Amino acid sequence: MNPDFLIVGGGIIGLSSALELVQGGASVAVLERGTCGGESSWAGGGILSPLLPWDYPAAVTDLTQSSSRYYAEWAGQIAGISGLDPEYRRSGMLVLPEFDSERAMNWSRSHQARIEWVQQRDRLPEAAGDDEALWLPDVAQVRNPRLIKALRLALERTGVRIVEHVEVTGMAVGGGRLVRLDTTAGPFGAGQYVVAAGAWSKKLLGEQGTQVEIKPIRGQMLLFRTRPGTLRHIILQNGFYLIPRDDGHVLGGSTLEDSGFDKSTSEEARNQLYTSATKLLPPLAQAEFVKHWAGLRPGSPGNIPIIARHPQIENLYLNSGHFRYGVTMAPASARILANRIFRREQPFDISVYDWPEINTKALDKVQNLV
Ligand SMILES: Cc1cc2nc3c(=O)[nH]c(=O)nc-3n(C[C@H](O)[C@H](O)[C@H](O)COP(=O)(O)OP(=O)(O)OC[C@H]3O[C@@H](n4cnc5c(N)ncnc54)[C@H](O)[C@@H]3O)c2cc1C
Repeated sequence: MNPDFLIVGGGIIGLSSALELVQGGASVAVLERGTCGGESSWAGGGILSPLLPWDYPAAVTDLTQSSSRYYAEWAGQIAGISGLDPEYRRSGMLVLPEFDSERAMNWSRSHQARIEWVQQRDRLPEAAGDDEALWLPDVAQVRNPRLIKALRLALERTGVRIVEHVEVTGMAVGGGRLVRLDTTAGPFGAGQYVVAAGAWSKKLLGEQGTQVEIKPIRGQMLLFRTRPGTLRHIILQNGFYLIPRDDGHVLGGSTLEDSGFDKSTSEEARNQLYTSATKLLPPLAQAEFVKHWAGLRPGSPGNIPIIARHPQIENLYLNSGHFRYGVTMAPASARILANRIFRREQPFDISVYDWPEINTKALDKVQNLV
């Protein structure tokens, strides 16, 4: 029998959407071209905050803060069902200069988010300078590959059907509805459909997504192995960050490259990232260098995702375009999607995540003027 919902894409966004929908009482299946979480959701760093939160529009702040408020509970629930620990940790983030401190402090006051002035060397004994830095004690992180693994298992245990190694190749539309998906394993049908295909969402939607502006933005990362405790919190300076894990691994990233669907790594980026990493934390020069990889973020204007129903196709939804912060935004985005579908109350004004209706709106405007 066809499920109530078919979700295309088994990244953090597709899987968290599946959890919300199944918990809302629906039957759900997920179609994934590769293995769940094998793309951007695996490649990311797992910082649960915008890098400099005061630099982003309200649409990003609302979504990330809404997620942050219940991330601990959400991750705990997934750990409880799956028996796997996704390593949610409130490790804090140290921001080193340059930064706009006035803007940061104003943002802190208006959003009740703690930001404190600290001496760099109090938090980072290896730091050479006497400069002050900003300390964001409530910034958390999650070990994203483990979160995906736990989420996948939790979904299977709650009855979600996960179909991997099946690629959606086409959409059949008729009478204002999506009738079926064509895939490499034959046709799949459902009552309603959610596209959560990350950087590939626009490609997948084809002519149903002409107004959607989502494109791949490559990010390269490095991984080191150090003694556990070498670094206890996230550090950020001039767009470069280091993220420590419990077992001593330290991630360093990342690049922002507009190079299409090319996921290859480059020697140039590796050298740049390595230099930044060892400058920020000198012990990394003696640490084991483990890995270098690249992932494709679902880039969107203003880092604002679309979490909405298609304007003309009544049973097609999109949850995509989370760009740099999909791991952070996942729980709130999934809840907003489910609230829309089940017609539940929303936590704040969500019209900014609507599917763009450029043509219709332009027409309305002309008519009004006349
Ligand atoms: C280097 C880097 C660092 C990052 N750091 C952070 C961070 O610290 N914090 C944070 O919050 N975010 C971070 N991000 C961003 C975050 O990883 C993304 O926003 C998030 O993973 C997007 O999730 P997604 O599910 O939309 O996309 P994806 O994880 O890419 O999932 C989409 C899935 O759809 C599948 N798919 C595509 N087309 C089809 C098809 N036709 N048929 C079937 N399946 C299909 C793909 O195989 C893929 O598995 C980072 C990203 C990168 C690359």
